[in-house]
Amino acid sequence: MSKQIPEMLDSFSQLVAAPSVSSTDPLLDQSNRDVVELLAGWLEGIGFKVELLPINSASGTTGAVAPEKFNLIACLGEGEGGLVLSGHTDTVPYSADAWDQDPFKLTEKEGRIHGLGICDMKCFFPIVLEVARQFNASELKQPLYVLATADEESTMSGARALAACGKILGRHALIGEPTGLIPVYMHKGILMESIKIKGQAGHSSNPALGNSALEGMHTVIGAIMVWREELQKQFRDTRFAVPEPTINFGTIRGGDNPNRICAECELTIDLRLMPEMKLEEIRTDLRTLVSDAIAGSGLSAEYNSVFDGVPGFETDTNSEVIQIAERLCGRESGTVAFGTEGPYLNAMGMDTVVLGPGDIDQAHQANEYLSLERIPPMLDILTKMIGHFCVQSAD
Ligand SMILES: [Zn+2]
Repeated sequence: MSKQIPEMLDSFSQLVAAPSVSSTDPLLDQSNRDVVELLAGWLEGIGFKVELLPINSASGTTGAVAPEKFNLIACLGEGEGGLVLSGHTDTVPYSADAWDQDPFKLTEKEGRIHGLGICDMKCFFPIVLEVARQFNASELKQPLYVLATADEESTMSGARALAACGKILGRHALIGEPTGLIPVYMHKGILMESIKIKGQAGHSSNPALGNSALEGMHTVIGAIMVWREELQKQFRDTRFAVPEPTINFGTIRGGDNPNRICAECELTIDLRLMPEMKLEEIRTDLRTLVSDAIAGSGLSAEYNSVFDGVPGFETDTNSEVIQIAERLCGRESGTVAFGTEGPYLNAMGMDTVVLGPGDIDQAHQANEYLSLERIPPMLDILTKMIGHFCVQSAD
């Protein structure tokens, strides 16, 4: 399967042309097979040992056959420790009508290349390949890994499967998510939860004929707002632009007519949590709080998670990978407002920096692009990272 790596622009084109949308909507969800197979061929062509690991799909309840998903692990050199260069292979869904050109056809215009997923984050892999081809396995004192994951944009099933399989990869990691060439050491965790309150319908003229789920939800929202204030006092961290955990009341749906007592009301909320806040504990606290708020009212509650959630992420700013990244970028590391696979890599025993050439402002957008001027500095950063962690045997 090994293949010559094409010129970088040609590799960008081939990756963009290989659809790999991931979505929790089964109608939109696609396999990432074409992307990992392209990468596998190119990586083998420059001496990497490549493994494709199928991921057992969690879906299947609908009866439909879920698309195949794979993680790719490639390794150059041998031994323990070393550096992992990691990215996700999937893209978000797209609206073709909103694009000025075919989202799957890489288009160069005014110093930018446009294409679905080019910035977030298919561009990372050809840049990695361009750097990695300069190194021979024999000169590496510690191994260099390339990791390409599935489903980062939807369920994080790729990173979860990897963390669960107990494989030991490198000691240090870089994830090339779009950070505008600024090293990132921390982000918040994310939960999205649905709460459904169930009561009893009845004629509006007599409250005794029913039990209003809508009024129950009013009590629930009040209780969540009080809890939010407590959490914000307890977990303040001024290193974040928004220095406290947040809870957003995103949607509410309930009732059908003014003259009927509302029998059912559903609320969805989004929680952004500090890295030390454990997702499962917060989820349990929320559900207990809601159950307590409606206790004795005759109403009942049903709970669902919109998705499993993304844990918060924090790498010690004194760790070697953050220190080196800060030195190479000539600036201090910072925080971002989006989730990454960083917490999963850190759980596998790595110190992870998130640092990539794209800008998050262009991600998940029509006409997504990468500025070509971002490529040379990223090549330089990766060359020096590999030199430091794999050639000079930093530990
Ligand atoms: Zn991304």
